[in-house]
Amino acid sequence: MKYIYELWDDFISLLFPRLCCGCGTHLLRNEKLICTECYVSIPRTNYHLTVENPVEKLFWGRCNITRASAFSYYTKGSRIRKIIHSLKYKGIREIGTEMGRIYAASLKNSDFLNGIDMIIPVPLHPSRERRRGYNQSDLICEGISEISGIPVRKDILRRVVLSDTQTRRSRYERWLNVDGIFDVAVPLAIEGKHLLIVDDVITTGSTIEACANEILKVKDVKVSVIALAVAVM
Ligand SMILES: [Zn+2]
Repeated sequence: MKYIYELWDDFISLLFPRLCCGCGTHLLRNEKLICTECYVSIPRTNYHLTVENPVEKLFWGRCNITRASAFSYYTKGSRIRKIIHSLKYKGIREIGTEMGRIYAASLKNSDFLNGIDMIIPVPLHPSRERRRGYNQSDLICEGISEISGIPVRKDILRRVVLSDTQTRRSRYERWLNVDGIFDVAVPLAIEGKHLLIVDDVITTGSTIEACANEILKVKDVKVSVIALAVAVM
């Protein structure tokens, strides 16, 4: 009987191949979304183990971030880049949640998540979220929450103005472009709390900076930051 099921499985995967989000190879029966080879070989920054790491330094002199880290490096042709592309542009939502779980599992082996009260996704502009059908940061947050037990709050931070495409702008122009596009909807809910802002990729850090600066206007609040990848500068 088992043999027939396996044949049926093979037949289905012939019609609808399950491909790895990181490298595009066919997944084995026991693999989910990414293959074992990708899981093992995606380079980890392990920045969560180091204070004053490059992601933290990125925010120095810009906003008062408590801790910051990224899972991997956002480099050309990298597996993590393909994974994030699958998440944002191919509609593969589950890879966001899965990467959140994978990252949270390694964060849990350190003190990085200690004292974090809530996880905050970087909001997309509502019209972009409608077009995509979801916010990729929400999905990453859900995976992190599942493993860490820390609640996700999507109602704290709101995006108010759409910034047009940020490519080919200088760091200063990008900063101008995102400053003031977020606001805190329920300041009382975060007073005295430590928030973890989650994004898919950190490039210049200007989006996170804009979020953090709004949040940091609230009394006694602390902000930490993570992303699935950081652009190597
Ligand atoms: Zn792979």
